[in-house]
Amino acid sequence: MICAKCGEPKAHRSHSRGVLDWFYKRFQMIPYRCRACKARFYTYRSGATSGLRTSEERKIIELRRRLKWKNSKKVVAVYSVAAVIAAAILFYVVTRPPE
Ligand SMILES: [Zn+2]
Repeated sequence: MICAKCGEPKAHRSHSRGVLDWFYKRFQMIPYRCRACKARFYTYRSGATSGLRTSEERKIIELRRRLKWKNSKKVVAVYSVAAVIAAAILFYVVTRPPE
């Protein structure tokens, strides 16, 4: 992470503490601390487009997003198949001729 104050790529995640951190977290913003100038600043959790991300970080964020989407597609496919099977069973039960 690139420092918002001095521009060095030496910022790291900072521990959350206090009401202000809690407040920022509601808006998906997390605190970072710079090892070079000791400045503390906030940035969006998954802000790949924020100019403060190094190219490696952007790559990692992009990869995580792709994997997350891939998993979501799998879940949607499984639920679709289950819904079709449930509909088929329901159709069979409803249209069964009375004995
Ligand atoms: Zn700094």
